[in-house]
Amino acid sequence: MNIQDKTQIDLLKTKIDNSRKVIIVPHNNPDGDALGAALGLYNTLRNMDKEVTVISPNEFPDFLNWMHGVNEVLIYDKSIKKSTKLIKESELVIFVDFNSLTRIKLMGELFEQDDTPRIMIDHHPFPDANVAQLQISVPEASSTCELLFHVLNEAGLKDAVTKEAAECIYAGIMTDTGSLNYNSNRPETYLIVAELLRMGIDKEHIHHMIFHNNSFDRMRLLGHALGEKMERLPELKTAYISLSQEELKRFNFKPGDTEGFVNQALWIEGVNLSALFTEKKDLIKISFRSRGGFPANKFSETYFNGGGHFNAAGGESKLKLDETVERFKNVLKEFCDANGFN
Ligand code: 5GP
Ligand code: MN
Repeated sequence: MNIQDKTQIDLLKTKIDNSRKVIIVPHNNPDGDALGAALGLYNTLRNMDKEVTVISPNEFPDFLNWMHGVNEVLIYDKSIKKSTKLIKESELVIFVDFNSLTRIKLMGELFEQDDTPRIMIDHHPFPDANVAQLQISVPEASSTCELLFHVLNEAGLKDAVTKEAAECIYAGIMTDTGSLNYNSNRPETYLIVAELLRMGIDKEHIHHMIFHNNSFDRMRLLGHALGEKMERLPELKTAYISLSQEELKRFNFKPGDTEGFVNQALWIEGVNLSALFTEKKDLIKISFRSRGGFPANKFSETYFNGGGHFNAAGGESKLKLDETVERFKNVLKEFCDANGFN
């Protein structure tokens, strides 16, 4: 894996060796890779007798609540005072799976004025400058979890990775690659998976806990989304789903329930771009997935204040749900015409 500068690994090792109180932060709305990396590192550092706390900007989905250490995760939204105190007292902060302070929402402001040493470990393209003093940014990694394992290994810390940490790390690799479907053509990814298997992880059980342990409501919401709410724009090779607060309430929505819906809209023949619009309390959250040459991150950054990977990105809109969808259709046409897509 192309970590530009081997001295980065030495620096990371030194920082970890010299710090006892460590804070680990995943991005807002943490997914399997973000929480997997946070808890993979948490369990490893705990095993090294560090005083570690994972602070998530907001709640994480239930399908990750089997991960070891999950009950110790602090939710910033719900315990601002305690989190702030812990961050102030810490000697090292490690950011995982994001590369811009905007991705941790309100917590970002806290770090703008904080001088605790910070390390960023991430696989998204185009990192902001000054997120951390040490920025380990490797976009070719399938997932932050793969990168994390690679980094721990290079730093000579592999022996500290417990089986529980390995389970979290595997979960991140698996969720960010659609079960080793996309973003996973590098042989190195499989060498790491092999290492994790050697450590005794039960990959079938992890798969079950994440994908085959749905609530009845979630499955019905998926049926509703695909059956009633999916629209197609054939001339733009696009399919999209929009879900209002009222619909989400009807199916007793819980965080994580819509995870993966946007991928399914991409499974239609002739569709190269899919979008999911979800109405939150104060904004519309948007997810994009693309196939082939459509730069989902550039599109999202240009029109929806977002970003992400080339084929998997996200953004948001302050307009109403139906207005957001209308705007999406207009700007998509504009973007495709301007860039010669479709
Ligand atoms: P998802 O659609 O699963 O929420 O996110 C897909 C990808 O886009 C992830 O890599 C995620 O980090 C990124 N992403 C999602 N939402 C945003 C956003 O609002 N801003 C930026 N910069 N990236 C996002
Ligand atoms: Mn990731």
